[in-house]
Amino acid sequence: MLSKLSAGKQRFLAGLSLSVSAIVSAPVFASNEVNVYSYRQPFLIQPIFNAFTRDTGIKVNVVFAKKGLTERLVREGRNSPADLVFTVDIGSLEEVVSANVVQSLNDPILEKNIPAQYRSPTGQWFGLTTRARAIFASKDRVKSGDITNYEDLADPKWKGKVCSRSGKHPYNLALIASMIAEHGDAYTEQWLTAVKTNLARKPQGNDREQVKAIKDGLCDVSLGNSYYYGAMLTDEEQFEWANAVNIIFPNQSNRGTHVNISGMSLTQSAPNKENAVRLMHFLTEDLAQRMYSEQNFEYPIKPGVQASGLVTSWGSYKADARPLSEIARFRPDAVKMVDRVGFDN
Ligand code: FE
Repeated sequence: MLSKLSAGKQRFLAGLSLSVSAIVSAPVFASNEVNVYSYRQPFLIQPIFNAFTRDTGIKVNVVFAKKGLTERLVREGRNSPADLVFTVDIGSLEEVVSANVVQSLNDPILEKNIPAQYRSPTGQWFGLTTRARAIFASKDRVKSGDITNYEDLADPKWKGKVCSRSGKHPYNLALIASMIAEHGDAYTEQWLTAVKTNLARKPQGNDREQVKAIKDGLCDVSLGNSYYYGAMLTDEEQFEWANAVNIIFPNQSNRGTHVNISGMSLTQSAPNKENAVRLMHFLTEDLAQRMYSEQNFEYPIKPGVQASGLVTSWGSYKADARPLSEIARFRPDAVKMVDRVGFDN
């Protein structure tokens, strides 16, 4: 019947039905939403939020930012529209805790899905994914077994062969904090000083740029988060960088590889708390956990969920079992140590 109408009439009718459904659904959405502040990037998190909305009818409004979200939450205080804040790294998780902008949540589902070492003992933050701080080593110049521990990076045999990003980057600070937790201050400072002595160049760039430097022959080993290996292997330009290195999971014969997390916290204000908790549950269940791994090559935090095929192909590894909340306690010491050693100079 529609086909008998003029094109103009059809457009009018289509517009009308659109606006009618908008009117009908608007009040539902207004009370049925959840507001998220996110340091995580849209490409990663948006498809997962879309799946949640399809499942529940709850709309997810997201503010993405590279920095300043904690300050914004402080500024907005009790009137903040935010329900959840999504962070990467224990550094920023602890930052929202000390800024007093998040609340504690005791929740049996989250406690079942997330191993205790990857959530705050007081329920103020919860891990969503894990990533290993791996060693990348030249396929051509580093033989299998030549380097197996973080401690080995201090060995004089690597003089002039180590590349690193800034010691003050959160990923390195967390690793250094885990070294302090394991070995104490004195040993770790010696270690860090020796690693600095082994550097091929002044710390610069990000994790991937160190791998490129290995490919270019500037150095032989570097530290990097595991998901960047996946990101490079699936990138046309960067494939060659990744293809020049092996990924090594350090400390397998002792405490295990240092692992960090991306995570989430319920804000102090949380005007839509019930919906927020539903989203938190959804993100720790199998579907979302799998999507994170497919999308960004991270490891699911929920035990028993398979990582993506590519991630699985790197082999399994033993993770350091020390709770991240304990490692986080040594982070301020790590910051001072990087300065004292002059790691970035
Ligand atoms: Fe990263």
